[in-house]
Amino acid sequence: MRKRDDLRERRVWGPSPRYSFVRTYRRPSHHRGIISIMGPCSIEGREQMEKVCRKLKPLKPTYIRGGPWSYGTYPPDPELQGIRLESLYEAWDAVGNHGLGLIIECLDMRNLYDIRTHSDAVQIGARQMQNYPMLSELGSYNVDLTLKRHPGATVDELLGACEYILRAGKARPILIERGSSSFHNHVRWSLDVSLIAHVKSVCDVPILVDASHGGGRRDLVEPLILAGMAAGADGFLLECHPDPERSISDAEQAVNLDDAVRIFKKAKKVYDLVRRKK
Ligand code: PEP
Ligand code: MN
Repeated sequence: MRKRDDLRERRVWGPSPRYSFVRTYRRPSHHRGIISIMGPCSIEGREQMEKVCRKLKPLKPTYIRGGPWSYGTYPPDPELQGIRLESLYEAWDAVGNHGLGLIIECLDMRNLYDIRTHSDAVQIGARQMQNYPMLSELGSYNVDLTLKRHPGATVDELLGACEYILRAGKARPILIERGSSSFHNHVRWSLDVSLIAHVKSVCDVPILVDASHGGGRRDLVEPLILAGMAAGADGFLLECHPDPERSISDAEQAVNLDDAVRIFKKAKKVYDLVRRKK
């Protein structure tokens, strides 16, 4: 795909964005194949993570995900709130024993040491997208760093946040589209596939589609992932669970492990098709 030299050409309003690092960034080779991040919303114990890893291992997912804390749009039940280091350690053990990589969200810099020592990659959640000191700090580590678009952020604001990471010098950013707030009420958030296609046209920073948070509905996860992949996404984030209805968070959007495997295979086909020369 041809990249445009001047991102400002397509803007009609606002200050000119300064994206020199985003524009010149070239992805490392391990970001070239399909990037997949799969696993439950919340870590619910060792057995749950074991089941997830056993089922997904043959797919060689890039990272297994899971949240050791539950901070959502609304405060969760008091007993679920806050950092649960025990679950971080359990996930780290289970995922590592299967030879897989673990990605963990950093919500609070006070947890950075535990996250750095018990994960292979770090996620910056949608609500932290403009926490610039955090972006700069995490950007200074030699790590894969996913950056989720805030539900109210423009593509320029997303790429501006990515610029903070790249200017810090070390981390390898991976963008994630996870939907905007909108007037719709048939979905939780409105996934923007045009944004994925746009990012692909202007820079080489990989971008994933998160159809789990993007739609918030189990039945829409597959079509929305495939739409994102067709728009050129470099991979996807998918929430899955051995017993989806019983997930302690985001149960409505969790798919079961058989469906996760099927969706991975279909997404990979679309990934290959989009990149086919003929
Ligand atoms: C998540 O991926 O676990 C999550 C909370 O997503 P978001 O930051 O996109 O809401
Ligand atoms: Mn979730």
